[in-house]
Amino acid sequence: MGKIIDGKKISEQMKEELKDKVEKLKAQGKKVTLAVVQVGDDPASSVYVNNKKKTCAYIGIGSLSYELSKEAKEEELLSLIEELNGREDVNGILVQLPLPPHMDEQKVIGAISPKKDVDGFHPFNVGALSIGQKGFVSCTPAGIIELLKRSCIEIEGKECVVIGRSNIVGKPMALLLLRENGTVTIAHSKTKNLKEIAKRADILIVAVGKAKMITKEYVKEGAVVIDVGIHRNEQNKLCGDVDYEDVFPICSALTPVPGGVGPMTIAMLMNNCVESVL
Ligand code: NAD
Repeated sequence: MGKIIDGKKISEQMKEELKDKVEKLKAQGKKVTLAVVQVGDDPASSVYVNNKKKTCAYIGIGSLSYELSKEAKEEELLSLIEELNGREDVNGILVQLPLPPHMDEQKVIGAISPKKDVDGFHPFNVGALSIGQKGFVSCTPAGIIELLKRSCIEIEGKECVVIGRSNIVGKPMALLLLRENGTVTIAHSKTKNLKEIAKRADILIVAVGKAKMITKEYVKEGAVVIDVGIHRNEQNKLCGDVDYEDVFPICSALTPVPGGVGPMTIAMLMNNCVESVL
């Protein structure tokens, strides 16, 4: 195992595998189609949406694009979702978050059919994950499990510490590590003695949303460190929640930013789209 966990390379392997699967499905007369809905024109959301559409095209997944203005009413979005839920030619529905403040995100997520919820955010799928049943899993944590497995990093019996308890990263991450038989601790903004707790980890997953917060004082010698954060530093360069230069010398493996967790998130979204027709 190399010290740098190359998420870009691993995600490219996954995309090739998915391309093959999509071709085989096509030969059986089955098409995969993702509907992507964006509300407003937030530049970061537009970049994410375009990347998703480009990756769909590469793999052979059809994508339908819906753009609503930032003033659109919640009912307009809900009726679009209802229409997409009912369309047989649409397998997956993705509503790009965040939504404008006048829309209730949970209500919108809850309106998507759980069978088409390729983001894995619907309460039905979150519940399925928590009781170990099949369902769509949030793409970022699912991608991290794939990164660990494909890098031959064993999870079973390991001390795993997740810093962050968001619904889309921290909580599903902890449940997935538990499913893989890790011994899991979730730390968050109210945790006391964070350094001591983080230092127990054989596998440390960092999703705090604070640039370069995690220095070597938080990391046990030889730990595997997964950096979920994405930020721009003063030079407008991308960096993570982990102080890469500081932590690199003492850990056994580390994901870079960019090129670590980020590309895996899109690959897992594509995987969920393919799964939706299987
Ligand atoms: P969030 O803001 O919803 O959650 C952050 C979590 O960190 C919270 O649960 C909070 O309790 C915890 N936290 C905050 N300050 C803390 C502190 N000082 N000590 C301990 N815990 C603290 O963020 P999120 O949506 O989970 O995302 C986290 C980071 O990951 C962000 O930088 C986000 O941009 C990035 N992200 C990356 C991807 C990707 O594909 N690479 C996907 C999702 C999110």
